[in-house]
Amino acid sequence: MKQQLDSQQDLSFDLFEKISGHEQVVFCNDPSTGLQAIIAIHNTTLGPALGGTRMYPYATLEDALQDVLRLSEGMTFKCAAADVDFGGGKAVIIGDPKKDKSQALFRSFGQFVDSLNGRFYTGTDMGTSMDDFVQASKETNFINGLPEEFGGGGDSSIPTSQGVLYGLKATNQYLFGDENLSGRTYAIQGLGKVGFKIAEYLLREGANLYVTDISPEVITKIEEKAALYHAPITVVESHEIYETDADIFIPCAMGGILNDDTISKLRVKAVVGSANNQLQAERHAKALHDQGILYAPDYIVNAGGLIQVADELYGPNKERVLLKTKAIYESIIEIYKQAELDAITTLEAANRKCQQRLEQQRQRNNFFTRQKSPKWTIKE
Ligand code: NAD
Repeated sequence: MKQQLDSQQDLSFDLFEKISGHEQVVFCNDPSTGLQAIIAIHNTTLGPALGGTRMYPYATLEDALQDVLRLSEGMTFKCAAADVDFGGGKAVIIGDPKKDKSQALFRSFGQFVDSLNGRFYTGTDMGTSMDDFVQASKETNFINGLPEEFGGGGDSSIPTSQGVLYGLKATNQYLFGDENLSGRTYAIQGLGKVGFKIAEYLLREGANLYVTDISPEVITKIEEKAALYHAPITVVESHEIYETDADIFIPCAMGGILNDDTISKLRVKAVVGSANNQLQAERHAKALHDQGILYAPDYIVNAGGLIQVADELYGPNKERVLLKTKAIYESIIEIYKQAELDAITTLEAANRKCQQRLEQQRQRNNFFTRQKSPKWTIKE
């Protein structure tokens, strides 16, 4: 008996150690639908937790927990940077999105989300689709990013690409004293939902492009657009995109692409793109800095989609979302200037800005908590 207690204590100790930076972690289990999910609420200082739900066939429970903890912490920073009144959260569903999905599974997940009574808002992420969340929304109101016909804001890649374009303008202004996007050369990695929109806009503006994508169909489509706008475009192989003589590299495919192998190859003056987690490790921000490459922190530049889903609380309104997304321009300029002033990386400058917002809100929260204390004081 003693032995059992000890081992249980060890387990809970390890688990609490692991989640020590988080407010709440919820394990969801519904054998009737096969749902196994984890919801992680990292920090609600700024408001209820917000973050997408990822579905992935994690090899172990520990991998799933690791992922959801890391992603929900990232959301706290992303929300703070985007100036939205939400905190950081995320959920993962353990399963293969190609084989294990069902309407019942997502309705069951919706019930778990509902049980948190508004502490956690969620929507699509890798491996989940809007249709899945239409099912979940039958069980809970705490879903965002639904299709327009279901009352949501629709395709979030539109504000995301607009945010990146503001980031590019800010970077041109900072580096060249002219925000104009035309006449410069850009290298785009990935022409998916976000990258294609950026590429098309830049072609229309008269920019020069290097592009790469592993899908031949999107390459054909962008070549057709380039012909339409009589704009110069060069298609390169995946590995060649790092070595072009472009002014700015725009990663819009996968994470971890700024690493020991690629950074030394880069000849660009800046990196400004939508891909999440572009730096393989935080030290790569310093490597870029040392090489004289200006890095626009990804979580600042790609916040347009988040701004849209957070804004849905007030009812969908594309003009308002665009206006809020425009703030990415000033935010990026401020981070570049602060990094230069303090001789730190742009990532450090961005992280500090988020910490400051969190701290300010924490103090405000404490202030209101203190206002409640007289009742307690009288009793004393
Ligand atoms: P997507 O899946 O629509 O597009 C990704 C594109 O990258 C695809 O065309 C794919 O063929 C291509 N690709 C994959 N591997 C490649 C490689 N090795 N070399 C070149 N191309 C490759 O995704 P998306 O919605 O456009 O998002 C792009 C990135 O931006 C992702 O990292 C995503 O997490 C991030 N992001 C997207 C949004 C959004 O609103 N969609 C918001 C924030 C961040």
